[in-house]
Amino acid sequence: MLLIKNGMIVTAEQRFRSDILCDDSGIIARVGPDIETPTGCHAIDASGLLVMPGGIDPHTHMEMPFMGTTASDDFFTGTAAGLAGGTTSIIDFVIPGQGQSLFEAWYDWRGKAEKAASDYGFHVAVTHWDAQVHEDMGRLVREGGVNSFKHFMAYKNALMIDDSIFLRSMQRAKELGALCTVHAENGDAIAFLQAQLLAQGETGPSSHPLSRPAAIEGEAARRAITLAELGDTPLYIVHVSTEEAVQAIAAARLRGLKVYGEVLPQHLVFNESVYHGNEWLQAARHVMSPPFRHRIHQKALWGGLSSGQLQTTATDHCCFCQDQKMRGRDDFTRIPNGVPGIEERMSVLWHYGVVNGRLSAEEFVAITSTNTARIFNLYPRKGCIAPGSDADLVLWDPSASRTITAGALHQNVDYTLYEGMTLTGLAVKTISQGMVVWDEGTLRAERGKGRYIRRPALGRDHRL
Ligand SMILES: [Zn+2]
Repeated sequence: MLLIKNGMIVTAEQRFRSDILCDDSGIIARVGPDIETPTGCHAIDASGLLVMPGGIDPHTHMEMPFMGTTASDDFFTGTAAGLAGGTTSIIDFVIPGQGQSLFEAWYDWRGKAEKAASDYGFHVAVTHWDAQVHEDMGRLVREGGVNSFKHFMAYKNALMIDDSIFLRSMQRAKELGALCTVHAENGDAIAFLQAQLLAQGETGPSSHPLSRPAAIEGEAARRAITLAELGDTPLYIVHVSTEEAVQAIAAARLRGLKVYGEVLPQHLVFNESVYHGNEWLQAARHVMSPPFRHRIHQKALWGGLSSGQLQTTATDHCCFCQDQKMRGRDDFTRIPNGVPGIEERMSVLWHYGVVNGRLSAEEFVAITSTNTARIFNLYPRKGCIAPGSDADLVLWDPSASRTITAGALHQNVDYTLYEGMTLTGLAVKTISQGMVVWDEGTLRAERGKGRYIRRPALGRDHRL
């Protein structure tokens, strides 16, 4: 048993001083003032700290095979790094191979994830269509504990699907009570622009953002929303990075559509200047899609978060080391797309969101944990501090500062986007399944301790 005493509990709704008793099965048994320490129970004094639901990162890619290589953080190192940063659950992506059955792919990824240190679930990508996909989607929802499917409007000749496949998948997801998620960028336009830039000899990383202008995301977001409206089904747009997409989501919500938007902290903090004036490697380390944008978009993303039009934050954590990024030395379209960030996410959002006055602590909990739990039907097991919820908690020092360096982080990658930045707000202790796994700088993540979390289908009345 574990007793957390004297902390200030912060949920998505309120803050109050209380103790929390976690039982041996990793569940919160009691929340209340002045709980006596049962015999044999380990007690932690959380005076001066905030006690919040552990973070949930609904967008990671651990050990994902992509662009001819494999993301360097595996399910153990990546989830362990998450724990060190206060994140206690992830939802990763199953990406089926060319023509592979979705169910088979899901089974493979279940195997890979057995080494995870924290709890996890999966979205499954629909990258083609046939009768098997139709059947597998049903099996995944009914037997697999999957309630969300991913669609790529980008990555032509690889993961991209056309609108008719997207509509078929939406229709099927609706029957099953599953949520469609989408990477909204116009893949045809990107392929056209990439080819044109390469033909002009523009082979460096500064061409990456030029091949994926903001309008291309705006168009795809509007199109995805139109398709969801046609299919009368909810839609979750991952890594929203442009003002156009935020406006499309807000407009759809005003029309009564269930459209949700996710933001990555790196898009809130960095702008397109990272691709210019930097040496090749430094620029390549920022190559991810969608790319970093002009400052005007950051303002819209913050506005989306603080107004509630955008509901969640994720990282798209997908690590590639120097030798992997070098694959694109002579051709920017071959630079593996992806950046790290699961370990830094909570601190970055606290620092730039709460310390800078854009978000309240309660809103921070909502966008780092609770909203995600609600949208993906993990609530109140996750994202909640109440009897019966999983004892996944973070003890947070709201005023401690540290300077970020890659060497001090636990992600299995040779850089951090936030190198040298001093951030205020820090996970002092992280509790997963009722056990202290991150303890003032000591990581006690255990290989294989993470559990696969089944997410039931969503009801017709499902809403954030
Ligand atoms: Zn992604």
